[in-house]
Amino acid sequence: MLFTYPLNIISILFHVLTISSLQTPLVAAHCPSCKAVPNTPSWPCPSAWAHLNASTGGRLLRPTPPGALCHPDQPAYNASACPALQAAWSTYDFHQRDPVSSMWNQFSNDTCLPVPGYPCSGDGYPVFVVNATDPKHVQFGVRFARDHNVRLVVKSTGHDYVGRSVASNSLSIWTHHLRGIRTHASYSPKHCNVLINHTAVTVGAGEDMISLYTHLDALNQTLIGGGGQTVSVGGYLTGGGHSLLSPRYGLAADQVLEMQLVTPTGELVTANECTNTDLFFAMRGGGGGTFGVMTSVTVRTYPTPNITNLSLTLASTDTASPRVWEMVSYVLSQFPSLAGSGVSGYSYLFNTIPNPLAPSSNTSVSGLVAAVVLQDAPSSDSLTSLFSPILSHINQNWPDVFVQTNVTTYPSFLSWYNEHYDTTETGLDTYIGSRLLDRAALTANLTASAEAFRRLSSGGVATAYLVSGPGVWNADPRGGTSAVLPAWRRAYVHSTVGVGFKPLNATARAEAVEKVDYLLQGLRRLAPGMGAYVNEATPYEPDWQHQFWGDNYDRLVEIKRKVDPDDVFWCHPCVGNERWREVDGRLCRV
Ligand SMILES: Cc1cc2nc3c(=O)[nH]c(=O)nc-3n(C[C@H](O)[C@H](O)[C@H](O)COP(=O)(O)OP(=O)(O)OC[C@H]3O[C@@H](n4cnc5c(N)ncnc54)[C@H](O)[C@@H]3O)c2cc1C
Repeated sequence: MLFTYPLNIISILFHVLTISSLQTPLVAAHCPSCKAVPNTPSWPCPSAWAHLNASTGGRLLRPTPPGALCHPDQPAYNASACPALQAAWSTYDFHQRDPVSSMWNQFSNDTCLPVPGYPCSGDGYPVFVVNATDPKHVQFGVRFARDHNVRLVVKSTGHDYVGRSVASNSLSIWTHHLRGIRTHASYSPKHCNVLINHTAVTVGAGEDMISLYTHLDALNQTLIGGGGQTVSVGGYLTGGGHSLLSPRYGLAADQVLEMQLVTPTGELVTANECTNTDLFFAMRGGGGGTFGVMTSVTVRTYPTPNITNLSLTLASTDTASPRVWEMVSYVLSQFPSLAGSGVSGYSYLFNTIPNPLAPSSNTSVSGLVAAVVLQDAPSSDSLTSLFSPILSHINQNWPDVFVQTNVTTYPSFLSWYNEHYDTTETGLDTYIGSRLLDRAALTANLTASAEAFRRLSSGGVATAYLVSGPGVWNADPRGGTSAVLPAWRRAYVHSTVGVGFKPLNATARAEAVEKVDYLLQGLRRLAPGMGAYVNEATPYEPDWQHQFWGDNYDRLVEIKRKVDPDDVFWCHPCVGNERWREVDGRLCRV
């Protein structure tokens, strides 16, 4: 909000508008080959935008490029405020509070970074934003984009790793302020003759993880949520949503009992197991920004577990030796049996990092650090007992690997989370890549997996998250099925890797894309039939349609064609986007 100005003056001129205008849209008379762009006859005239502003009660923003404070050629220039902006840029919080910013710079083509001397323009960002606080605002925005052939994007926090929540020459619906949290002892979905005898919570689509965890913790409850404090329900859940608690209870998409959404025709509808069942299927894993704008969702909640956490470091200063990767692949081969005993957690594989166990020694190490947990364990020894044979095996076979362990118990999920949430930095130019790994990938050939994990980590740090297991495989989503990649139902581990690159450098960007592809190749060979998690992947994943959605893809495209025949919603990599392509910032029919 700080860097934007609402169109209040125009709003005063066009103040007498009510929701009834939703029923009288201006319908585009023909099928233009490209979406409208500013400064051409195709772009809506100022009075049309003013009309939209008035109908949303003055909630149309014309955003200032997020880095403008640092640029003398920009009206918003403020030299003394620039250092604070530069510091905030690396935080997730900044990007979620800004109406258009996205956390990785390349998705707005580096068009206004907070670096004096770099170029700054709004070219990489939406031209207008509906700052929605009510589903009505979303309806007005969607109908406007449809009727005026304007490219539409949906942004909640801009935390998207594949760049779906920002686009140039577009109107953006900003869902960040769609808030509200209401708990239920049991739940009856609308138009269904069913009582779901399970605790639940209805939340606004803009709610973030820390707000939800905090609210529910006060009631001794929690929900299936993500590791980043500011990640929002909207993009997280529509992409599937894994959690520390998933191996016990399933993915976030598996928890949904009901959803309210605005469809591509601008209707506000309920989707559940009895009504709008296609949308109910698609919105649970079929990807954000594709089938509509979720305005609120009802999900199951659970009693908060107590958590026993083992922080584990396994590292070797012999960073050149392949033996350390044999040790890493041995540890990861134990994940299936650990998951069978209820263990979940996050592990990080590193090629060469400064020695964390001897920071002043000027040495580097390779290996693995992890935070693994047991929920509601009978005693704090339970987790140690599960790991002691693994650690003995390491001592015997890799005596040069040093081992550090630390066990802590936490009385609730939130108390664990407050110490273990994702504290990485953002505001960079980075691509990440993803692979889901099943039992065979982790256990069948440890020589091959050692090589695959060595390659994966050769760019720096990679992850192997133990976030799937029995709860995901045996999940019972309402209505019997959901759109998440079926490979989740046999996965144990979600593994990722990231590659950073210099901004404003097309060669560096292309090299980063290639490098992510190269780093992933070992895992793809290891787990050929699995796939990747759309929310934490590279937008350049080959055969992304099937890698992200598997056999669900065809049904998802059918639903997309039915609910959005005119492609009001378009993003990449998103279901059914094959009929359009981006050409110099313009979206045109293929
Ligand atoms: C620090 C951090 C930690 C993370 N931890 C986890 C984790 O533990 N588990 C996990 O599964 N993922 C995790 N993620 C990945 C996360 O799921 C994705 O980044 C997700 O896309 C974020 O959604 P968002 O709404 O916050 O972001 P946005 O960028 O705003 O949106 C992402 C996508 O969803 C769409 N979208 C957003 N809101 C809506 C809505 N209301 N209706 C329809 N479409 C919508 C957008 O158009 C876009 O396509 C993490 C990400 C970060 C940055």
